[in-house]
Amino acid sequence: MPSDDERGCPKCGHDGTDVGKISTTGGGLSKMFDIQTNSFEVVSCTNCGYSELYRDTTSGGSDIVDVFLG
Ligand SMILES: [Zn+2]
Repeated sequence: MPSDDERGCPKCGHDGTDVGKISTTGGGLSKMFDIQTNSFEVVSCTNCGYSELYRDTTSGGSDIVDVFLG
């Protein structure tokens, strides 16, 4: 159930996340994003599996989790 502050997964409201990294090296994802080589951080809901990609930044992992959870 979503917590009463309304933060959570955009799909199911769960507030547990996993954060991983993807490095693209010219394969499928890089075509999708029209880039050559880059890295992304992936925030995934641990309940329903919904995931969002964020361009890797120097601001640290907690920020993207905040974005994901809204
Ligand atoms: Zn979810």
